[in-house]
Amino acid sequence: MLDIQSIREDFPILASQVHGKPLIYLDNAATTQKPRSVVERIENGYYHVNANIHRGVHFLSQAATEAHEEARKTVQRFIHAYSSNEIIFTRGTTEAINLVASSFTEACLCEGDEIILSEMEHHSNIVPWQMQAARKGITIKFIPVTETGELCMDTYRSLFSERTRLVSVTHVSNVLGTVNPVREMIDFAHSREVPILLDGAQAVSHIPVDVQELDVEFYVFSAHKLYGPTGIGVLYGKEDWLDRLPPYQGGGEMIATVSFEKTTFNELPFKFEAGTPDYIGSTAFAAAIEYVEKLGLSHIAAYEQELLTYATEQLSAFEGLRIFGQAPDKSAVLSFLLRDIHPYDMGMLLDRLGIAVRTGHHCAQPLMKALGIEGTVRASFAVYNTKEEIDRLIEGVDRVAGMF
Ligand code: PMP
Repeated sequence: MLDIQSIREDFPILASQVHGKPLIYLDNAATTQKPRSVVERIENGYYHVNANIHRGVHFLSQAATEAHEEARKTVQRFIHAYSSNEIIFTRGTTEAINLVASSFTEACLCEGDEIILSEMEHHSNIVPWQMQAARKGITIKFIPVTETGELCMDTYRSLFSERTRLVSVTHVSNVLGTVNPVREMIDFAHSREVPILLDGAQAVSHIPVDVQELDVEFYVFSAHKLYGPTGIGVLYGKEDWLDRLPPYQGGGEMIATVSFEKTTFNELPFKFEAGTPDYIGSTAFAAAIEYVEKLGLSHIAAYEQELLTYATEQLSAFEGLRIFGQAPDKSAVLSFLLRDIHPYDMGMLLDRLGIAVRTGHHCAQPLMKALGIEGTVRASFAVYNTKEEIDRLIEGVDRVAGMF
């Protein structure tokens, strides 16, 4: 189905060496590598289509504006949004959540109101809410995680009260790989007339997302985990919700009129995009989406599942190995600990063999606390990884095991 060798050739970095060994890149949940088409789009943008957008009457400015707005439509198509007005470009997932936390709290929350998060959230879906909660006296409730790394759905339902105003949870866990039952979660929240935000940072490169079918109020993700550039991401919001929220930042682009006395704000999506946007990044983002669409997200997902199953089987053979995240529905993330070997030792020794894995708390300290551990070793797979690379990982783990 997918020609993995030819896909690998699209990613020049995969041919490089680390410490004299061929690079084996298994840190894709942190960021993915970039195909030539994405890097070439950036180069082409700066060499041939660079001018500040939206305000120019001259040719280059109009060409750059067109490319940027085309990119917005590409994102709209990718997540099946109803309108391109619902696609707000941000610096990434983190900024998108900060935007909603700030504007939603301003417009919709009063002292004593409650929001629901989960124990498996990335810090970027905890800290912005805590900052707002402190400002306005809001209570945050957390859905606990079971031993298999799934959300405890009975508790989820029981956390709702008359004061619940929003649910904000991750679609896929960056530590456990768990694909959360978002259909069920959205339906329940809506039955209580509560809107929901999904953090799709770990989902969009593995799962086809249709925001209209999900009927989700807010959906956020970053380009760089989807083979795209760093520094750009998306807030999707239903238009009526975005209309209701006040702007996040003030400045150029987001205004309609300004006088010394008063400012009126621009319409969507520009109301939320203060300042010069990353109009080169947006076009490279579109190139990444086109790349993924060309391969087919369902083919990518099926192949990554093969890698996950293979790696899970191989790793499970080690005595004293614990895998964190055993949900039946999992994306290609494998978090583990071997005996009492510290994750940093494992990570550093694997690095000497050219193998890049991530170690530590993965920006999810509350989850680590709930699991009763300090951190894990995390191997995460992308479409360009191979079973041979997993064999090298297993050999590496075996070598490290023998040293302790
Ligand atoms: N949420 C999740 C689930 C993540 O995995 C990450 C990145 N590790 C983020 C949010 C933050 O993404 P970014 O740093 O691109 O803003």
